[in-house]
Amino acid sequence: MNRPVLVETSARHIHVSRRVLDILFGEGYELTRKKDLSQPGQYACEERVQVIGPKGSFPAVSILGPVRPETQVELSAGDARSIGVKAPIRESGDLKGSNGCKLVGPKGEVELEDGVIIAKRHIHMTPADAEKYNLEDKQIVSVKVETDG
Ligand SMILES: [Zn+2]
Repeated sequence: MNRPVLVETSARHIHVSRRVLDILFGEGYELTRKKDLSQPGQYACEERVQVIGPKGSFPAVSILGPVRPETQVELSAGDARSIGVKAPIRESGDLKGSNGCKLVGPKGEVELEDGVIIAKRHIHMTPADAEKYNLEDKQIVSVKVETDG
């Protein structure tokens, strides 16, 4: 069955908890929404933070809002290798046993104990679309990618 879906590559990004946002940007700081993502309620923010591993760092990694219960750093396998963090391939939110890194913002820095993952490839879909396409959450699908050239 052929069903068109929009394929987006998600570059390295982080999700922050309220606690970590307070440390990095100051108590009670509110994220600045830059662009809504296809996933309802999720948005890219203007704010960027430095991500530091034992072997290297990325100077300006974007934050995706809104704040979440746990801070999560999503990298590609190459990214993780280049900063020297061993990161497991995980579903978003599954951080158990992952490694941490250091985050530096304009107001402070925090050493995460865990939270660095390589996100499993996934499709963002609204519950309505999933119903239309006859899919369930966590279902494994195959995707044929066509580019506009
Ligand atoms: Zn994410």
